[in-house]
Amino acid sequence: MVKSALKKLLLASGVLRLGGKLAGGGVAILMYHSVREDPSVDCDVLGGIIHSAPVFRGQMELIARHFKPVSLDDVLDYLRGGKELGTPSVAVTFDDGYADNYLVAKPILDQLGIPAIFYVAVDSIESQTLPWPGQLRHAFLTGRAASWTAADGNVWRLDGRAERLRAFEAASARCAKLCGKAQKTFLDRTREDLRAEPVALKERPMMTWDEVRSLVRGEHLVGSHTMTHPNMAQLSETEARAEFSESKERLSQQLGKPVVHFSYPCPALQPHWADRTVDLSRQLGYETGVTTDGGLVRKGDNSLRLHRIRPTRTVQGIHWNLEYTFMGGIA
Ligand SMILES: [Zn+2]
Repeated sequence: MVKSALKKLLLASGVLRLGGKLAGGGVAILMYHSVREDPSVDCDVLGGIIHSAPVFRGQMELIARHFKPVSLDDVLDYLRGGKELGTPSVAVTFDDGYADNYLVAKPILDQLGIPAIFYVAVDSIESQTLPWPGQLRHAFLTGRAASWTAADGNVWRLDGRAERLRAFEAASARCAKLCGKAQKTFLDRTREDLRAEPVALKERPMMTWDEVRSLVRGEHLVGSHTMTHPNMAQLSETEARAEFSESKERLSQQLGKPVVHFSYPCPALQPHWADRTVDLSRQLGYETGVTTDGGLVRKGDNSLRLHRIRPTRTVQGIHWNLEYTFMGGIA
């Protein structure tokens, strides 16, 4: 309670804002996934990546009022030595390509004049299936099997929710290293072993191509989040090249314009990017890449491995995190 009251006081006093100015500015890139009117729906499948629409609206109103909303194109221009953005600037990003990004988040962003970038996992858009973490989580939480035997011979008991989630994490560490057909085979086999049904969400899972196209007709940008959502640092060079380039090509065809922005999928394993993936992304024509490493983006940063900030679940929480980050902290 005291902590929260103190934070409120500090935010209202403007002391943090002054500290941020002295620390030299920069851009905060926020990382969202899903925004739902009712976050409890489907949360078993998606886990902790859902924001409620009222909280998201409150956070966007805060950004529109207290910060300068900028696009990823603006961030790139800033890093290349173009125009100063004015402190403190905030860019809004979404990973994966959930249908709620279009149906719930976009109207709020448009109303407030905030440009965002939507990084889509191309295979998920085309097949209208969730990226693998949601599918795997669902299989572990709903399967009828009493235990699961991993490839290394370890047997995981599936008695309660906590045990199931621990087994899911072990399986995720394996699945994150796979892409394309190998990943699909792993998912199918694991679902079979667990005696689970495929995910049937209460709402349509992913955006359609029409919806993705309509994002770029407005103020928003679309970037690649790979084809099949692997951990890029764990793939062979051939696999990483295919994930980077196929997703870029498919998106460019669908949107009728070049795609230069990339987002590294959320890691079940660290690291989730490497110097060689950064080099490869540059060779293949990407100009920015965002990671899930925390912190601010500052002048001189490599545009192909940018930091982002995870938004908290409250409006005051994100206000604090942003001001604290602009002062040089890592929230
Ligand atoms: Zn993702």
